[in-house]
Amino acid sequence: MKRLLVTGAAGFIGANFVHYWLSQHAEDRVVVLDALTYAGNLETLLPLMDKPNFRFVKGNIGNTELVELLLREEQIDTLVHFAAESHVDRSITGPDAFIETNIIGTHSLLKAARSVWLADPANPLPHRFHHVSTDEVYGTLGPNDPAFTELTQYAPNSPYSASKAASDHLVRAYHHTYGLNVTTSNCSNNYGYYHFPEKLIPLCLTNILEGKPLPIYGDGKQIRDWLFVEDHCRGIELVLQKGVTGETYNIGGVNEWQNIDIVNLLCELMDGEFAADASLAERYPQSPCAQGKPANSLITYVKDRAGHDRRYAIDCTKIERELGFKPAETFETGVRKTVSWYLNNQAWIDNVKSGAYQTWIDQQYAKRK
Ligand code: NAD
Repeated sequence: MKRLLVTGAAGFIGANFVHYWLSQHAEDRVVVLDALTYAGNLETLLPLMDKPNFRFVKGNIGNTELVELLLREEQIDTLVHFAAESHVDRSITGPDAFIETNIIGTHSLLKAARSVWLADPANPLPHRFHHVSTDEVYGTLGPNDPAFTELTQYAPNSPYSASKAASDHLVRAYHHTYGLNVTTSNCSNNYGYYHFPEKLIPLCLTNILEGKPLPIYGDGKQIRDWLFVEDHCRGIELVLQKGVTGETYNIGGVNEWQNIDIVNLLCELMDGEFAADASLAERYPQSPCAQGKPANSLITYVKDRAGHDRRYAIDCTKIERELGFKPAETFETGVRKTVSWYLNNQAWIDNVKSGAYQTWIDQQYAKRK
């Protein structure tokens, strides 16, 4: 039985991870630490709140004393670190928060883990610190370059990826210098349930429903690898179970798409959903699909993002060969599940978009104190 501290699990991937983990490891204890920034949504964790083996703590990863207290009090043996500022565009307009959370916050967690788990370095407590990172640390690829492996040199290009790269190095250093049992995974773009609608796929789906423009940066030919979020969670589970301490593992879908092609695919799927279900036109009258126009009529080209990386591609041979990783979803099946989720969870989307959930969180929090 494991006792996990999961940081950032009110966000997209962390939330999917704790739902997945407790569905697979019902006996384990999961404590979530999340500061509930604009990207954190406690509502996503609501179905878990009454489980006796689940606890939510609102707090900052930069609060070393709080983290030390939780590690001791909850006898945590596994820390899975998702908490981050994660949106590249926001890192361009305001990099400070990225330095604060991704670099200084990660270092603060490492310090806390070292002080509790390695209090007596000759007799370390059983532990694992798993750091969740991104393929963006490797920089950008030309059209014919080989995909990123774990040995690809780091070359981050945005304040976001630079801050994640710095955190990866700190995690590595705490292993080599102090003997902390760490693993790191670098994953490609995720998509799936509970995804904040500032990111490409949920932005397009929700804007099609609302009849708002689908903004495409530059020529739209930037290439990304996409992985269904639950497959990412499975990959992390494998690393926790079988990964070698000190190692890093790339996780991806071997599934490269140009942004414009993804957007066109989403448009086609939404056209099909509206054609198949007449009630959608009643629920979303603002959508072009409700007005007999194709969803791709909303596509609007906008000025490219500064320093926009052209292509990311990830080679996940290592995790496949050494840990047996294989995504359960194809892109086809994963995207269909995602479209269906966004069509059936309007209340979640409305709350996130209106900010009403922040008020709700404050009320919930006040009740629990
Ligand atoms: P997200 O922005 O959806 O969620 C981040 C969560 O961290 C939020 O709940 C937020 O409240 C919390 N948080 C932020 N600052 C905090 C702080 N100082 N203390 C405590 N909590 C804080 O992010 P995501 O997309 O779920 O990404 C999770 C992790 O996975 C990140 O480390 C990111 O770099 C990495 N990653 C994301 C992707 C992707 O496609 N989204 C791909 C690869 C790796």
